[in-house]
Amino acid sequence: MGLRIHFVVDPHGWCCMGLIVFVWLFNSILIPQIVLYPHYEEGHISASAILLFYGIAVFCLVALVRASISDPGRLPENPKIPHGERELWELCNKCNLMRPKRSHHCSRCGHCVRRMDHHCPWINNCVGEDNHWLFLQLCFYTELLTSYSLMISFCHYYYLLPLKRRNWDLFLVRHELAIMRIAAFMGLTMLGGISGLFYTQLIGIITDTTSIEKMSNCCEEISRPRKPWQQTFSEVFGTRWKILWFIPFRQRQPLRVPYHFANHV
Ligand SMILES: [Zn+2]
Ligand SMILES: [Zn+2]
Repeated sequence: MGLRIHFVVDPHGWCCMGLIVFVWLFNSILIPQIVLYPHYEEGHISASAILLFYGIAVFCLVALVRASISDPGRLPENPKIPHGERELWELCNKCNLMRPKRSHHCSRCGHCVRRMDHHCPWINNCVGEDNHWLFLQLCFYTELLTSYSLMISFCHYYYLLPLKRRNWDLFLVRHELAIMRIAAFMGLTMLGGISGLFYTQLIGIITDTTSIEKMSNCCEEISRPRKPWQQTFSEVFGTRWKILWFIPFRQRQPLRVPYHFANHV
């Protein structure tokens, strides 16, 4: 099944996502120019430190783009409800369509999403059954990239040898301190915000509860048997291979196809 691009028309979401892309570009372009390349050229760090930085940055960007343009689990207009599953479906009173339980109607996107977790303005998309795994990867790689950027910035000032060959005519060299302060401010803000979000996401998956269910306190009504964490994570990521949980360059196949029209993202 081919990839389908899901594009949400929402100027507020575009602004939020534009801000995230700006932070990514600011860090991914300037940190190597100011810190990594000069220290590598003077023999203070190895090439693997640069490769690691770009590796994490690429994984982070791929997870961001894919989480943003993936179909989160939109329901078709005329779903064929399998026999024996009718009691697991309900009518949405907003779009007047049948949907499986645990779906939610997103007022920003204007449609129902299977196992919707929340609508995230930072990716300008819903987080639902089919792209929740990409959203988790985005949180993980943002944490990693931010921590790594802050760590190498700290080493630049307090641990590594001072740079000798500096061209003071360059804009970046003359304004290095201001740029590094802006990068540190953005890094600490991102780290603080994403840490809390990532923690609640992980708890939500371990307890098999979406953010919407948690907020509306409806978990008692769902009365699901408690599953082991390996199973809940495997269902979200669509594979039992734990190494694949960290790879955004793949297609997700639902482990248990609950409805015959489940999308592959
Ligand atoms: Zn609906
Ligand atoms: Zn939405």
